[in-house]
Amino acid sequence: IGPYKGGLRFHPSVNLSIIKFLGFEQIFKNSLTGLPIGGGKGGSDFDPKGKSDNEIMKFCQSFMTELYRHIGPNVDVPAGDIGVGGREIGYLYGQYKRIRNANDQGVLTGKGLTYGGSLARTQATGFGIIYFVEEMLKEAGKTINGQTVVISGAGNVAIYAVKKAQELGAKVVAMCDSSGYIVDEDGIDLPLVQQIKEIERKRIKEYAVRKPSAKYFEGNKGIWTVKADVVIPCATQNEIDLNDAKIIVENGTFAVGEGANMPCTNEAVEYFLEKGVLLAPAKAANAGGVATSALEMSQNSMRLSWTFEEVDEKYDNYKQRVHRKNFYLRNGLQEMGFKYVEKDVKYEMLYVGKKLSSKVYDELMVAYAGPVYHKFRDYQADELID
Ligand code: GLU
Repeated sequence: IGPYKGGLRFHPSVNLSIIKFLGFEQIFKNSLTGLPIGGGKGGSDFDPKGKSDNEIMKFCQSFMTELYRHIGPNVDVPAGDIGVGGREIGYLYGQYKRIRNANDQGVLTGKGLTYGGSLARTQATGFGIIYFVEEMLKEAGKTINGQTVVISGAGNVAIYAVKKAQELGAKVVAMCDSSGYIVDEDGIDLPLVQQIKEIERKRIKEYAVRKPSAKYFEGNKGIWTVKADVVIPCATQNEIDLNDAKIIVENGTFAVGEGANMPCTNEAVEYFLEKGVLLAPAKAANAGGVATSALEMSQNSMRLSWTFEEVDEKYDNYKQRVHRKNFYLRNGLQEMGFKYVEKDVKYEMLYVGKKLSSKVYDELMVAYAGPVYHKFRDYQADELID
């Protein structure tokens, strides 16, 4: 259905197993967008934390010196993920261009606007999560307006989720990074978070030093003890386990929106569903980022740049499609998915990869993902599912 598409992750925890699960997630997520993108994922256990710009540049260049032979605008198109943002994409693209000596802008997405990037890509993942959560709440006769919200993380996804939640009238009271979390009962001062994280690249701890109404707590687990109506995990996989889910439910949270890739463990998902918590699953809720990446690729192919409104309009189409129940029925995989997951088709079918047995999952993957899946088959699908 299109070139492999997904982010690159630079984080010390990266290993084959993590990239494999992210790749699987990406296949389903990308298929939901209905856009011409297959799924893929990549990365390195390189730790960017504490590294200078120059060190980051050198790593990106070395990484691309090998990666360039495996990717291309019609082959595999990486973007960012944890530890890879606009700066890294710039260094990676520079090296790719140096090696290939060609204007292959479509080889990476999340690029700067001066060399083929798309308006709205930076905001897309975070905004998309809140749009999805708001749709889900609307169906339940609620809205995010006036709700107290906890959003974990402090990267690109979390920052723009906070922005959109605040724009829609929510009060965001807590955020975190991998060292600890902050609680600000006055509501998170987002420009201050952006100054600390995006410009100074410091720890979230700094926020409490500069904002008297805020408290900092060491370790990020405690963020789930902060009382909230809506919880949006935007940090990383498995950040909410069963124990956290119990605390969240006890605190009266009625909706959870998965911003990160698979942030809730299977046990946590089951617990939320059992307790009637509304759950926006990552594969649908965070697909706005990669959907806008696909729009960036289209612009690169056309050698045109759309206005924000043009991108937004197309993005809106995608949004509506992801929400329309019968959209899921459009292709083979999703039809098969429906057969096995009968209850609450709208949300549960998205968990198709987690809830089906490995044999059925295997069949689905071969039927749908074809060549991409064959790449992964050797790695034993069973590990992922049962
Ligand atoms: N890393 C993001 C994701 O998990 C974005 C991928 C992309 O834009 O290709 O979907």
